[in-house]
Amino acid sequence: MTLDINIKNIKKNAYRICKNKEETALRVRVPGGEITGDLIEIVSKIANTYGDGRIHLTTRQGFEILGIKWEDIDKVNLMVAPLMDKLEINHVDANAGYPAAGTRNIAACIGNKVCLKAQYNTTEFAKKIEKSIFPHDFHFKVALTGCPNDCQKVRSNDFGIIGMTLPKLDISKCVSCGRCEKKCKGLSTGAIKMVNYKPQRDHDRCIGCGECALNCPTSAWTRDAEKYYRLAIMGRTGKRNPRLAEDWIIWADEASIIKIIKNTYDYVDKYIDRSLPKEHIGYIVDRTGFMEFKKWALKDVDLPEYSVMKNNVYWSGMKYPGIK
Ligand code: SF4
Ligand code: SF4
Ligand code: SF4
Repeated sequence: MTLDINIKNIKKNAYRICKNKEETALRVRVPGGEITGDLIEIVSKIANTYGDGRIHLTTRQGFEILGIKWEDIDKVNLMVAPLMDKLEINHVDANAGYPAAGTRNIAACIGNKVCLKAQYNTTEFAKKIEKSIFPHDFHFKVALTGCPNDCQKVRSNDFGIIGMTLPKLDISKCVSCGRCEKKCKGLSTGAIKMVNYKPQRDHDRCIGCGECALNCPTSAWTRDAEKYYRLAIMGRTGKRNPRLAEDWIIWADEASIIKIIKNTYDYVDKYIDRSLPKEHIGYIVDRTGFMEFKKWALKDVDLPEYSVMKNNVYWSGMKYPGIK
């Protein structure tokens, strides 16, 4: 059977070109990695009706529905429409399927819905970012993790957002047990020292993990109500120079992070090499230099006073012989 298929459009709609040319697979995005049982039933129904029954769980917390026949794409789009609506995915016409596949699903660890160590609701923040940046054809990867344990491995993303807390001490509640010093040293960066039987926190060494607050028996240490984030940038997997994202801004706020990511789309639009099939942001930054990226990324960003920003960022990573 010969079908008149516009491959470019189909790929844009999150359908994959598969090894078996007779069929395709649909990538379903789940911003923040949270989905309800009734929505999983829709995924399951699509797989059983139009796929071959198999669903692959992707590393970016989406689903990939396998074995869909090309001729069934319009019907699959109709079935996926309520899923897009309920997950609040931006679209113009849900019945036409996903409006773009470039900007990848915003992935997140489970966050403070469940995890004691989390500093914030990772899914909520992921959904906010999704609303601000999707749909877009540019290949952006954003991931969030609730604390420096980084279960989500966000440093392999263009933007890795790591939750931080500012520990607050009520010295009147401290019984000088030394537990915070021990935990900070054993589990984290050793930012607390007992001085004259009272804990002192070195702000420059503190990574905002919250172990002191979690382990203080009298709640003398508590987490500040304000949310803080570490923004690590331009990590990547892939062929030429895979590398981990490096910290750029520490103790950042939510609004600034969203604005920086949005600004980066303008920067990419200006500098992307359109002669290439695709160019990841990190390679564009390598080409233009970090300072040019920084100029664009910080446009109209009003970082709070407490934020700490590195003037320059350097990456290393792995390089194959002969690659500069
Ligand atoms: S990264 Fe931190 S907050 Fe997220 S699941 Fe792991 S331990 Fe919990
Ligand atoms: S763990 Fe709490 S009570 Fe013990 S030394 Fe630290 S602040 Fe004081
Ligand atoms: S938040 Fe973490 S790094 Fe900072 S003082 Fe507490 S235990 Fe140490």
